Amino acid sequence: MLPSTPVPQYKIASLGGDGIGPEVVASTIQILEAIDGVSLEFTEHSVGAGEYLNSGDPLPEATLEALKAYDAILLGAMGLPSVRWPNGVEMTPQIDLREKLDLYQGVRPIKLYHPLHSPLRIPEGKTIDFVILRENTEGLFSDRLTPRPAGRDFETDTMKITRHGAERICRAAFELAMGRRKKLALVDKANVLQSMAFLRRVFDTVANDYPDVETERVYVDAVTLYMVQDPYRFDVMVTENMFGDIISDLAAGLIGGMGMAPSGDIGDTYAIFQPSHGTAPTIAGKSLANPIATILSGALMLRWLGETKSDAAATRGAESIEAAVEEVLSNPENRTVDLGGNLSTTGMTDRVLERLGS
Ligand code: ATP
Repeated sequence: MLPSTPVPQYKIASLGGDGIGPEVVASTIQILEAIDGVSLEFTEHSVGAGEYLNSGDPLPEATLEALKAYDAILLGAMGLPSVRWPNGVEMTPQIDLREKLDLYQGVRPIKLYHPLHSPLRIPEGKTIDFVILRENTEGLFSDRLTPRPAGRDFETDTMKITRHGAERICRAAFELAMGRRKKLALVDKANVLQSMAFLRRVFDTVANDYPDVETERVYVDAVTLYMVQDPYRFDVMVTENMFGDIISDLAAGLIGGMGMAPSGDIGDTYAIFQPSHGTAPTIAGKSLANPIATILSGALMLRWLGETKSDAAATRGAESIEAAVEEVLSNPENRTVDLGGNLSTTGMTDRVLERLGS
């Protein structure tokens, strides 16, 4: 008998967080555990508004250090409108994590699984399938934590674009485009802001290394128009932090809402996978949340493990989750409440599990 090849075991930190976070993470763990040939060991950590109420810190230093020891991190959602810092700002440990772990690539795939999910009338033969790459560590969020003197009659936020930050996100965008339909749009405001003109210059320089990628440069205001009128033209878009934040929500709206939009926050060493949505506190605890965004984020996690650990079984696992989701959603009966159906969180999870043969 041939010796059986040992299955690598990945250690995954699961951070359910607040609101609907724990529900959608529980669904995703069920799906991931059903994948053959991949062995994942999940360990739960408490981070978020609930943790702040417990310990006074939404992201304790010891937890941050512990997270660095995992192969990947699966996150639900964090923050609650009712739990704020004394300055009135909500706690956003998910943003802190991106900065502290240098997760500069916010990868947000946008794919329409059924025309019924979209508020647009989708022309015959067209579909929406693009990826937004959001720079996660600088841009207009760059000095959000800088303490400000109290009682001033003005406040400013700085749009910071460094050559290092711009170059690495542009390069990642070109690499992503090379693996897809080889089309890349830079989304900026280079006609008005110096920082954006600089980003465009860096983009143009990196573009010289990728002659096979067809590029366009679109102003952020115009891109919102094109995304609604002709979203089919896009393949990969790259943009700064805040613009990426805004156009990601618009993009999610095109394919059925926040419950359909997965994401990966990826750096050179660490990576976190989480739905693009927030904690949706009004539907928390009622099994009303759509788990698809988180399930697809789990698939992205397997895809990333597959690539970075050269593990074909993990890549196959990602493909089988994506295929199962595609097949389940191709039946218009299979819709959660946000998509106009009546499946619960657990009902949708069960449909995907059935497709996976579990
Ligand atoms: P954040 O600022 O933390 O990103 P947000 O203010 O953008 O959060 P979300 O929590 O993402 O808000 O919710 C936006 C809308 O989408 C709400 O109506 C919410 O109920 C809905 N929503 C978000 N996630 C889901 C989901 N998984 N399933 C169903 N509806 C959702």
